[in-house]
Amino acid sequence: MKILVINCGSSSLKFQLIDSDSEAVICKGLCERIGIDGSQIVYTPEGKDKITKVSPMPDHNRAIELVIEALTNSENGVVKLSEIGAVGHRIVHGGEKFTKSVVINEEVMKAIEDVSDLAPLHNPANLIGIRACQKAMPGVPMVAVFDTAFHQTMPEEAYLYGLPYSYYEKYGIRRYGFHGTSHSYVSKRAAKILGKDASDLNIIVCHLGNGASVSAVKGGKCIDTSMGLTPLEGLIMGTRTGDIDPSVVEFIMKKENSSVADVTNLLNKKSGVFGLSNGLSSDFRDLEDGYVKGDAGAKRAVDAFAYRVLKYIGSYSAALGSVDAICFTAGVGENSSFVRKLICDRLSFIGGKLDEEANDVHGKERIISASDSKVTLMVVPTNEELAIARDTAALV
Ligand code: AMP
Repeated sequence: MKILVINCGSSSLKFQLIDSDSEAVICKGLCERIGIDGSQIVYTPEGKDKITKVSPMPDHNRAIELVIEALTNSENGVVKLSEIGAVGHRIVHGGEKFTKSVVINEEVMKAIEDVSDLAPLHNPANLIGIRACQKAMPGVPMVAVFDTAFHQTMPEEAYLYGLPYSYYEKYGIRRYGFHGTSHSYVSKRAAKILGKDASDLNIIVCHLGNGASVSAVKGGKCIDTSMGLTPLEGLIMGTRTGDIDPSVVEFIMKKENSSVADVTNLLNKKSGVFGLSNGLSSDFRDLEDGYVKGDAGAKRAVDAFAYRVLKYIGSYSAALGSVDAICFTAGVGENSSFVRKLICDRLSFIGGKLDEEANDVHGKERIISASDSKVTLMVVPTNEELAIARDTAALV
């Protein structure tokens, strides 16, 4: 079956058309600047060169029309519209309601809307994407795949904050975790690579991209993860702070005479390795380059990033009791042998030992631990779109 995977943001829309039988990507692309001047669709049909079309996209309905046009046009299209068997939508927040992917109906859409206050930037955009697809492809079944679902197996001791319990009861304030599709895919893939059943393994997944999170997966189920109520908690990220003392917010507001919105923007958009490097870059390629050339800001940022990952590996090792494998994934985790080395060189407390030669790998599956390492260290590229396509095919 041919499955269209949609990842809809407020002003962008990423898509992939995947053959769920062969798992081949038939076409993938991106609509940028939806609702803003200068919008364009960029896409690559399988085996062909990248195509860019500048075209006004006042809303997501038009963006979806252009995606369908790109996929089906007579010149370089790859399918007939009737061949698209289902659409899988990435949904950021499923609250406590969704513990797995579901076929979308009116009730599901209402439930996604109900948890929108937990992800005010993302869930409304995801819903707009669903409605636009329903309009363009009436009758085609659609599936919602939630970023939070994999983490719903966390026990209460891991997901509760030390707040009055009534705040959890009244408002649902708790750890939800994100990147769940990636943590799920990578932990299952790692078990397959190791030739074992996921239920027999304790795995720590380090999803290190522009957004970054760690999860502890015991016997195939998530027992803890570093992101929280929102994707701001946990690791130091590209531009996000990760864990800080909550009192910092009021402290900055008083010192800078700024608003909650200003500080929230600062914590999300101007902090992380970008902020720590004094604005040098949020991109690890630039930071690594600066690090080796002796730039103090780049060194400070990358060292703090790696140390925070190490701390989470330490605490999740304790939570899991023992660790069989540590997986590195996403942009930095898959590509940066430099960052992996900074982290893995400090894993002697669990008997983890890096094979430096094996670690020279970028974007490919590989075991990177030494033969006498007590923990298997591995690079496992994530594939959230494929995971969404698999769930979608299974459900429809
Ligand atoms: P993601 O959010 O998973 O797409 O990851 C994006 C980030 O991965 C970029 O901002 C870069 O910091 C990082 N990245 C991508 N390629 C490399 C590379 N070859 N070396 C180091 N970092 C990389």
